[in-house]
Amino acid sequence: MTDVSGFVDQIADKSDDYSQWYTDVILKTKLADYSPVRGCMVIRPYGYALWENMQAGLDARFKATGHVNAYFPLFIPESLMKKEAEHVAGFAPELPWITEAGGEKLEERLAIRPTSEAIILSMYSKWVQSWRDLPLLINQWANVVRWEKRTYLFLRTREFLWQEGHTVHRTEQEAMEEVLRMLDVYREFAETELAMPVIRGRKSDAEKFAGAAATFTVEAMMGDGKALQAGTSHFFAQRFAEAFNISFLDMDGERRFAWTTSWGASTRLIGGIIMMHGDDSGLMMPPRVAPFQVVIVPIFRNDDERSRVYEAVQAITRDLTGAVRIHTDWSDNKPGWKYNEWEMRGAPLRLEVGPRDVDQGQAVAVRRDSRAKESIPIAGLGQRLPEILDEVHRSMLDRARAFRDAHTWTVSSVDEIAEQMEKERGFFWAPWCGSPMCEGAVKAKTGATLRCIPFEGGDDKGLCLVCKATADQTAIFGRSY
Ligand SMILES: [Zn+2]
Repeated sequence: MTDVSGFVDQIADKSDDYSQWYTDVILKTKLADYSPVRGCMVIRPYGYALWENMQAGLDARFKATGHVNAYFPLFIPESLMKKEAEHVAGFAPELPWITEAGGEKLEERLAIRPTSEAIILSMYSKWVQSWRDLPLLINQWANVVRWEKRTYLFLRTREFLWQEGHTVHRTEQEAMEEVLRMLDVYREFAETELAMPVIRGRKSDAEKFAGAAATFTVEAMMGDGKALQAGTSHFFAQRFAEAFNISFLDMDGERRFAWTTSWGASTRLIGGIIMMHGDDSGLMMPPRVAPFQVVIVPIFRNDDERSRVYEAVQAITRDLTGAVRIHTDWSDNKPGWKYNEWEMRGAPLRLEVGPRDVDQGQAVAVRRDSRAKESIPIAGLGQRLPEILDEVHRSMLDRARAFRDAHTWTVSSVDEIAEQMEKERGFFWAPWCGSPMCEGAVKAKTGATLRCIPFEGGDDKGLCLVCKATADQTAIFGRSY
């Protein structure tokens, strides 16, 4: 190896200073950068390519489940924003307002959308007239703004990118089916594309979306044992339909209010990928969304070797186009430097091609996750590389599951959570009576919030971890981002 001393020292030690490690990884791998606007970040091309792949994966799933995309205005008139009382109360502290434009004071203030229920549902009240107009299944890809006091790259920035699905249904049952279907789309997407295991569950009343009758979530565990809400799906019952007057003539000739839902996932997921899979060397991109799945590092000492290697790399790239996303690093840096660079940037596979490899008709593939090396005949790369990428995906998913399992504890009292938290963070499964008082007591004592009431794996008999009353459900508690 060539001299690479000092290279990986650019990233803080993950176990020493997790938060510094996280920031270093984002900045050094050029995923994102701070911007001149306080609390807002720039998503750089490497980060945006990752987002585009994630978007494509989600968008295909939304369309496969019958949804179409549309686009609504960034601004929401104050009168619309105020129509659903709980909704506006929940978002009011984070709303930026436009009071002046075009050199004039506006007659009505405009909020910059923190989420689009108000503007979208006001349009739906026009579009939905008969049961024949239902269901209405629309998704929007957009930016939203929430004026956060403390910001954190990807996880909490004042402006972020997301998608928000907003649907209208004839019956309660159809709406609830939609809510759970989309929650499962998020679960399946996270596991299949991001190698990110998640737990599906329902939020407590204290943690649900402002204005929702029920909020469902997929929760992931990060590398420091904290939870990240990876996607949410909301059941609004008829609350928003009443507030925005979305009613329709039903099959029996009666006019009824509709049932609505919304569901969303955002660029926070990128923060989740970094925190779930990254290590002391830097990022580890899940192969299926990685901007570059295979990075070719050409190795040569002189012009003659360079031209032979160049020819081989051209042929490989031609063969593999369409099968895998490839980038060849022809920069002037030494091969050892490039190895470290692409390890840090998390390319799932590196392919080394040198003059000796070319003579032998082979190339050497090195996995980012295990660093395992494998010599592969050049003619067989088109078949073997996608196989290895699948193996990398599976092993990343398995590793993340094993980490979560090792940091999950079943407890019966809030003291047990506090004690364990002194040592290590994680998920705590405990019987909970359902009272917000007990939920608040856990938070006050441990800093852990109620992440969800899981669909699977919970016990329906026990004594509440705080008040010791009979509890017919299990809740998962944890610190969160
Ligand atoms: Zn209790």
